[in-house]
Amino acid sequence: MNTTLIARRPASIRPSPSIAAKALVTRLRAEGRHIIDLTVGEPDFVTPRSIMEAAQAAMQAGDTYYTPSNGTLALRQAVADKLIRENGLSYGTDEIVVGCGAKQLIQTAFAATLDPGDEVIIPAPYWVSYPDLATLNDGVPVVVPCLEETGFKLSPSQLEATITARTKWVVLNSPNNPSGAVYTAAELAALGEVIERHPRVLVMTDEIYEHFVYDGQSQISFGRAVPALRDRTLVINGVSKAYAMTGWRIGYAAGPRLLAKTMSDLLSQSTTCPSSIGQAAAVRALSGDQTFVVQARATYETRRDRAVELLDAIPGISCKRPAGAFYAYPNVVGLIGRRSPDGIRIADDLALAHHLLSAGNVSVMDGTSYGLSPYLRVSFATSLEAIEAGCAAIARVAATLD
Ligand code: PMP
Repeated sequence: MNTTLIARRPASIRPSPSIAAKALVTRLRAEGRHIIDLTVGEPDFVTPRSIMEAAQAAMQAGDTYYTPSNGTLALRQAVADKLIRENGLSYGTDEIVVGCGAKQLIQTAFAATLDPGDEVIIPAPYWVSYPDLATLNDGVPVVVPCLEETGFKLSPSQLEATITARTKWVVLNSPNNPSGAVYTAAELAALGEVIERHPRVLVMTDEIYEHFVYDGQSQISFGRAVPALRDRTLVINGVSKAYAMTGWRIGYAAGPRLLAKTMSDLLSQSTTCPSSIGQAAAVRALSGDQTFVVQARATYETRRDRAVELLDAIPGISCKRPAGAFYAYPNVVGLIGRRSPDGIRIADDLALAHHLLSAGNVSVMDGTSYGLSPYLRVSFATSLEAIEAGCAAIARVAATLD
């Protein structure tokens, strides 16, 4: 096909680097290479049986038709109940929208609100999709580097200095992918104070890793810390990470009624609705027994401790202990500029990740993809054996760099 037949818009979008990494691992394994995969952005657990049973029951009960475009009333009620019970947030079922994953809801929220040139403030390191989803909707991503020295967190003064007359959204993600940073209630309140002074700025608070906070701490929802901004806050969440349901594609958003209605109208002209069966499963996930989540958190905490210990011990790498999510974000500045035995110069974290894959058969993400270098993102949503073998491979390759 002639390339000029493709529109201009897709050319400004990068395909998701984390999805590309997963595809590369799959291809290399199919070619017979033994790759240790530490790129994974999804739980390695199987969806709990009771959730699968709810899906099977829904199918057998004939729950196989289109649902309302904002999701079934049963699921929106389950979300409303969850938000009050776990987050202290009160939302009506007409303020909640269900979509095909949190990602689709972020895309739809931007489509509902961004006019060409509107700015979206994105603290870095960020989840890879935010800038591209903003661009896809004619918005302008405005990336704010949040350094390791300040816990990879956005400060109120940085935020104040970044807001302009064109700012439409501030995107907050706590616990953060990829840094694991978790904002305290006081930190959120301080950011909220800044936003309160700018009445045309909306807050997107992506809380999809809320259950994975360690060391006996817990996550505070932005809306709980800053109730005054309720009418300008959109909570983004979903069942993918908490219940090991990434393939089921169910996410949800809660925000002002007008925004929820606009998003629902847009969804009615795109996917119509998420899978009816997936929605029935999500009702069970949110309303049923929560033991799985508690056990998953404990497992991730053990893996985190091991991953951080191993990475931090590698000469040239230093790794802080992430407070949440399931990624370590080690600083690799000590390895940048070195050379491999066959003369390859490790110019940046992209080159390092590439070299680790080719020379060490270990796949990790580069910090460049997340907007803050030089770092690697090392997932610990995988077995202890894979974490240990992967970190040993990183150590082996690092030791050969001169
Ligand atoms: N937000 C963040 C921060 C994520 O890491 C992810 C998944 N990698 C998502 C949203 C999207 O989740 P989903 O679409 O599966 O609900």
